[in-house]
Amino acid sequence: MNDKGLSNTCYMCRRQSTSREHVPPLCLFPEKKDFQDDPDYRKNLITIPSCDKHNLKKTSDDEYLLSVLTTHIDNNPVGVRLFNSKVVRALERRPWNLFKFYRDPFRLTVGDQSTPGFMVDRKRIDRSINRITRGIFFHHFQKKALGTALIVPSSIAARPDKKGIITNRHIFQYRQWSQDVWSIADRYGENQDIFYYQVFRFEDYERTAIRLVFYEGVVFDVLIEDYKSWIRSVFTRSRLFWDSKREQKQIV
Ligand SMILES: [Zn+2]
Repeated sequence: MNDKGLSNTCYMCRRQSTSREHVPPLCLFPEKKDFQDDPDYRKNLITIPSCDKHNLKKTSDDEYLLSVLTTHIDNNPVGVRLFNSKVVRALERRPWNLFKFYRDPFRLTVGDQSTPGFMVDRKRIDRSINRITRGIFFHHFQKKALGTALIVPSSIAARPDKKGIITNRHIFQYRQWSQDVWSIADRYGENQDIFYYQVFRFEDYERTAIRLVFYEGVVFDVLIEDYKSWIRSVFTRSRLFWDSKREQKQIV
């Protein structure tokens, strides 16, 4: 999909765009040198126009995102290999990040498997996921999502204390319930071993759920609004109507 007519301003704000940014960040996709016998995982990546502020400011967030996502227990072998190559190399170069990225380690039982867990900096992860979702929204719908984004980290468990056990039960129930919706939705993205997304448009055409899936294991569901509420009241419903055939298929 191209974004003619929108490419002069940033996907996140109204500033002039100065470059094109990869969404999700390029660093999540393996480089050829680490995966010589594999297909090229960096072909046809999604890019969107971005201003300096929203492109350059997030380099350290990208490294954190990669370091957290690639540790997930549900990841496919590509995700595991990416951790063992690129992420381990980066940690060897900057060993102090080991303690910064994987804080307060503990043991966690998932199903009948015992696995190490660590505390995730939700604020930092959410900042990255928020940007990725808005970038994907821009790419998919050719317009900006200016309203709020509610992020459900469906793959992240709470620390299994008294409160956490209840939260985890809710997350598990949500995953079971949402499975039906997402199992029939189309998957978009060229390198689906690394990343794909799915879209569910609500009938009011003002809210959209976007599912982001990394390494076939880490899942984030984001409920995003097209417009800030004060703007929504100005626009009539017909202006918001989305008539692409592809989208109608999504809603059914
Ligand atoms: Zn911007």
